[in-house]
Amino acid sequence: AHDEKHLKVRLSLSERSDFPSELRFVDQRIFGGMFISPLVATTDGLPAGAGSLKASIPQAAAHIARDVIDPHRKPEDLYVALRKKTTELKRAILDQGIISGVGNIYADEALWQAGLSGLRNTGTIRRPEVQRLNDALVDVMTRALAAGGTSFDSLYVNVNGASGYFSRSLNAYGREGKACLRCRENGRESLIRRDPFMGRSSYNCPVCQPRPRRTRR
Ligand SMILES: [Zn+2]
Repeated sequence: AHDEKHLKVRLSLSERSDFPSELRFVDQRIFGGMFISPLVATTDGLPAGAGSLKASIPQAAAHIARDVIDPHRKPEDLYVALRKKTTELKRAILDQGIISGVGNIYADEALWQAGLSGLRNTGTIRRPEVQRLNDALVDVMTRALAAGGTSFDSLYVNVNGASGYFSRSLNAYGREGKACLRCRENGRESLIRRDPFMGRSSYNCPVCQPRPRRTRR
């Protein structure tokens, strides 16, 4: 394959010229890095992820919580981690120390799917609500992965240079002023609204994602 424009590091993984294999680190925004980190034991004694059989993880990543679709993640851990905090629910979902792998778009989609407001305080969240949120997170991330992600941006492409098409499946994100599809299905009228959120945006339905009564903002 040709060299990508922003190819920074190339590791040859095979010495066979008839079967070349490379790991390429391509980074346009220079947010990334590459370094060697010693392995440490996982805190729960389970394998570190879907691709590993060993119960060990690079030390530099040991503080990161399990990914949404990690087969070794226990949904109960999400409930425990959320109840331990008193922060806004959406902030908690984006906190990689609580659950990892969820970005701004997917947080909005999962919250919409679960019918929960991102402004809810995690200290008040009930077990059935966390169950709904967990199911929504797994569903959204699984579907997004199958679709190759959500790209509004040519930077986010797969190894073949193709961008994802999950943006066609969005129910909340980017739909400001458009009808909430679930409310419409239930014979109600409601428009998706956009709120400022940590320098970005939160898209949500004010009707089927009821806000907490007192919102400190
Ligand atoms: Zn709605």
